[in-house]
Amino acid sequence: MAKLIAEMLVETVTMELPDTKTLRLKWPDGYDVPFKTGQFITIYWPDTPQYKRAYSLSSCALDRGFYEVTVKRDGKMGTRIVDWAKAGDKLTVIEPAGKFLPVFEPPGKHLICIAGGSGVTPFRGFAREAARRQLDTRITILYSVRTTNDIIFHEEFKGLEQENEHLDFYVTCTRLHPSDPWTGRRGRIDAAWVKQHIHDLPNTVFYACGPNELVEATETLVLDELKVPKEQMKTEKWG
Ligand SMILES: Cc1cc2nc3c(=O)[nH]c(=O)nc-3n(C[C@H](O)[C@H](O)[C@H](O)COP(=O)(O)OP(=O)(O)OC[C@H]3O[C@@H](n4cnc5c(N)ncnc54)[C@H](O)[C@@H]3O)c2cc1C
Repeated sequence: MAKLIAEMLVETVTMELPDTKTLRLKWPDGYDVPFKTGQFITIYWPDTPQYKRAYSLSSCALDRGFYEVTVKRDGKMGTRIVDWAKAGDKLTVIEPAGKFLPVFEPPGKHLICIAGGSGVTPFRGFAREAARRQLDTRITILYSVRTTNDIIFHEEFKGLEQENEHLDFYVTCTRLHPSDPWTGRRGRIDAAWVKQHIHDLPNTVFYACGPNELVEATETLVLDELKVPKEQMKTEKWG
């Protein structure tokens, strides 16, 4: 079936970090397409319809009336959005697609979500939906950033963690100065750290999202080092 394409108003923009911006795109009147948390939309500027790029939804399927995407300043589209998109602009949006979906049914799964940098965006949707539906799905987010200044949605994840006893949000910093007061973990995500969070391997689903290099390194770690069957891993490669 043909994909639904709609022009949407940029309702609000929020700078999450100096290089990362969330756009809230308002659905036009009568717009209501079925979609799922974890999917991505494809967007383009009406003046350059040939230049389309995908963005994971950072909102969840229970958020109605708008989509949110969170974009890092990178490349042509990423830079145009972060430096130039403002409330009142219009963007064209191709309806959500993709299979990077949280396994909430059947209940009782443990989702281990591995992200680096902006790759955390869809996991905000996972965590939001689980908290609002009061699901008992266990979600562990293992998030790698360079420094504490690079943590996207830090406050929101901390708040969701307070709200939902089944959510754990862990950050590891890879490039902090030794004198930095951060008391959390330091260093890259490795097999030992991931293993520490596995409690019931047959019921665990692993997720990795972001630039290809990070996702491929995570695949090697989970599938080759930890010997997890590939049916238990979902990836979203951004290119
Ligand atoms: C399913 C999916 C979901 C995605 N979700 C998100 C998301 O939630 N948030 C997000 O920020 N991004 C996301 N992306 C990535 C996004 O689609 C864009 O690719 C990204 O914003 C970069 O914009 P661009 O493709 O126009 O960059 P391009 O201009 O095409 O550049 C592509 C890459 O090449 C690099 N590059 C460009 N020119 C040079 C050069 N001369 N020398 C060296 N390197 C160069 C850029 O830095 C960039 O990394 C997603 C991608 C996919 C496929």
